Amino acid sequence: MSEFREITMARPDDFHVHLRSGTMMQEVVRLTRPWRRALVMPNLEKPILTAEDALRYHDEIERAKRTHGVDFEPLMTIQITKDTSSDIIHRARIDGKVLAGKVYPRGLTTNSEFGVVDYPKELYSTLLTMEETGMVLSLHGEKPGTFSLDRERAFLETLSWIIEHFPRLKIVLEHITTAASVGFVMHGPPTLAATITPHHLYLTLDDVIGTTLRPHNFCKPIAKYPHDLRALRSALTSGNPRFFAGTDSAPHSRERKECDHGCAGIFSAPTALSLYLDAFEEEDAFLIASPFLNEYGARFYGLPPIPDQRWIQLQKKTWNVREMETRCGVKIFTANEMGDVHWNVLAS
Ligand SMILES: [Zn+2]
Repeated sequence: MSEFREITMARPDDFHVHLRSGTMMQEVVRLTRPWRRALVMPNLEKPILTAEDALRYHDEIERAKRTHGVDFEPLMTIQITKDTSSDIIHRARIDGKVLAGKVYPRGLTTNSEFGVVDYPKELYSTLLTMEETGMVLSLHGEKPGTFSLDRERAFLETLSWIIEHFPRLKIVLEHITTAASVGFVMHGPPTLAATITPHHLYLTLDDVIGTTLRPHNFCKPIAKYPHDLRALRSALTSGNPRFFAGTDSAPHSRERKECDHGCAGIFSAPTALSLYLDAFEEEDAFLIASPFLNEYGARFYGLPPIPDQRWIQLQKKTWNVREMETRCGVKIFTANEMGDVHWNVLAS
């Protein structure tokens, strides 16, 4: 274990976050502080499907940021469905400055009724236009109709088809949870990358259903076996630039989590950075933390490097999220039962 007490690094980027909209967005944006840039997912109740939707949503985020004095830069996405035309993609790239198009598996996660089942049939020409225009394909990689623990592994067949047919398309396999996905990305082409969430660095299926049912540890894709967790930690610390940070911070109210048909999603915006740093420290790989958090993702997406003055200073000092949690009404993920977090932002 390292002896770091204080660190300074370029401010991190989060390449997968859910900010929601309306009242929930106000709370979420207020707590999305340490990040320099955040790739905002489009699966609102009324999904972001076009350049116009993305621009409107961008404005709403900017207003919430001003209200709460927060300064991360939102990077926009649209949801790709079977009805996404070439014209929509072109206009989203040019008019909406949309960086990525997200595909959900139909019916498997929050607001995914417009998701896709059959990629060759439903998305062939759309993927072709994404490849031509340089829009990154962001994938929730689970195959509908498959047993829940096997869905991510089964999706790798679809992913192979996409890679084979669209060799210049940049693809991010989001929130990977299995050793199979880690191996697939490691041996995949340079156009393929993956995000790793903080919660998948701590949870296995036992933390969801092993003793009592823990709805706040329930997310999609669901946490898997101990050997999968170990594989994710080895990818995290590998220094391979095709693995980078994407928190998948996904808030739901307690009422929507603690009920029959509870929603999938883990809210980690306030604690994610500390959880990533703890994982690096536990694995004795602290020096890789900075590029994983602020360099590899930006490089893959072709974004400019973070200017020198955007630094963040963190100190090792335990704090407790419970008070923050009471105020915002959403359970905040920590890696322990007490709600303690170890790394504290001193200045940014
Ligand atoms: Zn997500």
